[in-house]
Amino acid sequence: MREIEVNVMSEWEKLIPKPRSGFLRVKCLKCGNEQIVYSHAVNRVNCNVCGAELAEASGGKAIIKGEIVAAFE
Ligand SMILES: [Zn+2]
Repeated sequence: MREIEVNVMSEWEKLIPKPRSGFLRVKCLKCGNEQIVYSHAVNRVNCNVCGAELAEASGGKAIIKGEIVAAFE
């Protein structure tokens, strides 16, 4: 019984947002537009102006395709 309880707890921890997450200001390499991207984005993020890919979900921290100009916790 004790082992099952531990497993349930670790499942819960996966649902709690990680403390290192935050927001990034990412500059589009194609058109220079800057927009805010969540550092752990779960969906692909595209530039609002030209549609270029700015971030790709990776199951954890997003892969940023543009230039990170600022970060907010
Ligand atoms: Zn763009």
